[in-house]
Amino acid sequence: MDYNKVFMVKWNPFSNMLSKARKLYRESGIFDVVEKGDLVAIKLHVGELGNPNYIRPFFVKQIFDAVKERGGKPFLTDTTTYYPEMRENGYDHYETALANGFGFGHFISADGLKGGYVIPVPTGSDLIKEIEIAGGLYEADAMIVVTHVKGHPLAGIGGAIKNLAMGGVSKKSKLDQHKLVDMEINVEKCQGCGACREACRMKIPVIDPERNVVIIDDPRCMRCPICGQACPEGVITLHNKARLCQGLAVAANAILKAFKPGKVAFVNFAVSLSTICDCGPIQAEFIGPDVGIFAGYSALSVDAASFSLIDHRRLNELHNTDAWEQVRYLKVLGYPGSENPEIIQV
Ligand code: SF4
Ligand code: SF4
Repeated sequence: MDYNKVFMVKWNPFSNMLSKARKLYRESGIFDVVEKGDLVAIKLHVGELGNPNYIRPFFVKQIFDAVKERGGKPFLTDTTTYYPEMRENGYDHYETALANGFGFGHFISADGLKGGYVIPVPTGSDLIKEIEIAGGLYEADAMIVVTHVKGHPLAGIGGAIKNLAMGGVSKKSKLDQHKLVDMEINVEKCQGCGACREACRMKIPVIDPERNVVIIDDPRCMRCPICGQACPEGVITLHNKARLCQGLAVAANAILKAFKPGKVAFVNFAVSLSTICDCGPIQAEFIGPDVGIFAGYSALSVDAASFSLIDHRRLNELHNTDAWEQVRYLKVLGYPGSENPEIIQV
């Protein structure tokens, strides 16, 4: 099990990528994390209802079937969202998984029906002292993390680290990570138009009736970019996004420590490279051609390999952040892997 190696198959639109993916899975050895009788979490993002960019289910079904062939008991899993969309609770999440083509295997909401099935663990970091890990991941014997690599407005890029860090924890721990970002409100420029309130999923911005300016002072605010993007005057801006990247590393590290060594593998799909994530019911723009599929034993190495071959500079510029901070900080925390891994083409 070499944490510094990443196996890769290049994307070829004129080739049978399903059979190439099968070859990659086999040659990378990712199924060695599975022993007979293991409960194996296949951690994925099924895509928000209406988002077309998530991983095609047949690529995941191959992983699911291979785990079964090894004698493992695979289940598809993800956590409920913090915000109110179609994955907010276990029931809706399951319905979304079915609608998006993931009906071939058991889908289990990793944090329970409404998000209460979580295990708090200390992180040893001052950035976020405690992370509430989703019980369905914490109790699994092994895990294969399957990730769609794409842009993200706060992290710059969402890869395996983010899939685990944000997608493997409670609603509270999601919010704790988001709150590492600072919000600045320049009320001098505010016209009191209310477009920010209209755009916010939780209707958090309020307009002060006396001064006719916005007030955002609600502990539920998740520092997402939505109200800032909706504001025509540039009143609301987000800063210190690199701290969120560090928080992602802290959370992912806490989850990975819950598994015995050699019981977690990663598969990244750097295709359908949208500028933003799969959490909204929209397609967004693409930043470049499909790159390929990556597999290995280290979230750090698999993300580093994936990030290095996509247009990460453009994503960093677009989102005013540094996506590599996730990778760097995971290394600082002592997690195994390389920021410059050996990439073996299959
Ligand atoms: S950042 Fe803006 S849109 Fe996002 S939750 Fe806070 S107030 Fe709402
Ligand atoms: S959208 Fe901008 S200008 Fe309009 S109320 Fe909100 S902050 Fe003020």
